[in-house]
Amino acid sequence: MGTGTSIGVPVVGCRCSVCLSDNPRNRRTRTGVLVRAPEGEFVIDAGPELRIQLVRERATLIRAAVMTHAHADHIMGIDDLRIFGFRLHSAIPIHCEAPVETQIRQSFSYAFTDPTTHSHQYAAPRLTFNRISPGQAFSLLGLSILPVRLRHGSLDILGFRIGNVAFCTDVSTIPSESRDLLHGLDTLVLSVLRREPHPTHLHLDAALKLIRQLQPRKTWLTHMSHELDYDELCSSLPEHVRPAWDGLKIPFTVLRPPEETV
Ligand SMILES: [Zn+2]
Ligand SMILES: [Zn+2]
Ligand SMILES: [Zn+2]
Repeated sequence: MGTGTSIGVPVVGCRCSVCLSDNPRNRRTRTGVLVRAPEGEFVIDAGPELRIQLVRERATLIRAAVMTHAHADHIMGIDDLRIFGFRLHSAIPIHCEAPVETQIRQSFSYAFTDPTTHSHQYAAPRLTFNRISPGQAFSLLGLSILPVRLRHGSLDILGFRIGNVAFCTDVSTIPSESRDLLHGLDTLVLSVLRREPHPTHLHLDAALKLIRQLQPRKTWLTHMSHELDYDELCSSLPEHVRPAWDGLKIPFTVLRPPEETV
């Protein structure tokens, strides 16, 4: 749904060539994914533009959210899940690790107070939490999803592999045990912030080195800053590595949870 870094592109007030560009592929909302699973839709991360993204993608009913980590650019759209709680008459499950739950409970404290104190019954999103762990596949809406440990500076975060596709955003390094889980991919979605090194994000050369090691058939770059121009990237990158854009659709093979495949 979104392919931009935490401040989005264009950057407010910036007059650089990318921010002033007419190319719609240089307009990037905050990074996140809408997954159309066999049994319904869910999102990976919920950035501040979630509602705008879901309207644009003609999403209908988001039944769950899966979180990579709890930085503001990945969780601040959680209130936009409120509508789906009304529609489903149930809480929306958020699949995440313990520190992410703690942060969400702090950032959206109004959603976790006594409902009888709310101004009306739809005033806050209804959320529940499901714990997930790296290396332990879980099933969601007819898909088997494998969380993969990634490093984001000093922070431990998660990427997700669904069949032949993996989504790894906000990466600075990938531990060796996780690399074993990311071989044989048809498609890797990988974050790249800019061309110069950064303490908590991959830069372009480091990402290309990682791609050479993991050897996915195709890589889409995401979480890009205004220092990366779409056309310039297309002309400078190898054919199997392309910058993603908001609204890009990626097909994937459905890997059913084990109990449903027998
Ligand atoms: Zn981010
Ligand atoms: Zn700019
Ligand atoms: Zn982050």
